[in-house]
Amino acid sequence: NTIIKIKNLKKEYEDGSIIALNNVDLEIERGESVSIIGPSGSGKSTLLNMIGGLDKANEGQISVAGVNLMDNSDLSNFRSNEIGFVFQLHNLIPNLTVLENVQIPLLGTDIDDKKMEERALKLLKSVNLENKVDQKPTKLSGGERQRVAIARALVNHPSIILADEPTGALDSETQEVILKLLLDIHKKENVTLIMVTHEPYVAKQADRSIYVLDGKIKPT
Ligand code: ADP
Ligand code: ADP
Repeated sequence: NTIIKIKNLKKEYEDGSIIALNNVDLEIERGESVSIIGPSGSGKSTLLNMIGGLDKANEGQISVAGVNLMDNSDLSNFRSNEIGFVFQLHNLIPNLTVLENVQIPLLGTDIDDKKMEERALKLLKSVNLENKVDQKPTKLSGGERQRVAIARALVNHPSIILADEPTGALDSETQEVILKLLLDIHKKENVTLIMVTHEPYVAKQADRSIYVLDGKIKPT
C-alpha cells in the first residue's frame, strides 16, 4: 500500500537557475517512518514541501494519498485532509493561546466549535500540556512549543506527518521526548512519518533513511 509515489520529480527556483530537486524517484508505504538526511542546501526541505503540497514541482509525477499533486489545483484542501506539518520554527501564532493554536488546522472545516475544542484538548493532554492550554506560546519552553506543534499537526487526523528538523534547537533531553512522542504516534495511529533531520541518532530511529545530495536521492 504505497502512500507516496514520486517519479522523475524536478523542482527549480529562480526561473531555473537553481535546481533544487532533479530526477527524484521515491516510494513510501503507508505507515512507514522515513528520515531524510543530507547536507544543508541539498534539497531536503524542498522534497518535504513537494510531498506536503506547499509548492508545485516543475516536472515529473507526484501522488500523495491518492491525490495527483501535479494536477490538483486545490492543494489547500489536500493539505488539510492529509498532512500534519511540524516545523522547527513552530509557526505558532503568538497572540493566540495554546488551545487556539492547536485548532488552527480545523478552522474553515465543517467541524463545530465545541468539537474543535474537545479534539484540541484531547491532543494537548496526550502531549502532557493540559496545564498550559490557556498560555500564549511565548511563555513556553522550546520543548513545550514543539509539543504544541505536534498536537496541532495531529488535530486534522492526517495520514502523513511531515516534520522538518523536529528536534532541532532543543536540548538533548527534550529531543528525546519529542522524538519518542512522534514515534509513538506513528506506531499507535499507523501514521506515515517523514522527518528531515541532521541528527544521526534521530535518523536511525526511522524504519528507513533517505540520503539527499545535490537535489538527488543517493543510495545509502
Ligand atoms: P535543505 O533542506 O537540504 O537544506 P533546501 O531544500 O532548503 O535544502 O534547498 C535546496 C536548494 O534550493 C538550495 O540551493 C536552496 O538555496 C534553494 N532554495 C530553497 N528554497 C528556495 C526558494 N524559496 N527560492 C529560491 N531558492 C530556494
Ligand atoms: P526547556 O528545558 O524545555 O528549554 P525551560 O527551562 O525553558 O525548558 O522552561 C522550563 C519551564 O519554564 C517551562 O514549564 C516553561 O513553561 C517555563 N517558561 C519558559 N520560558 C518562560 C517564559 N518566558 N515565561 C514564563 N514561563 C516560562
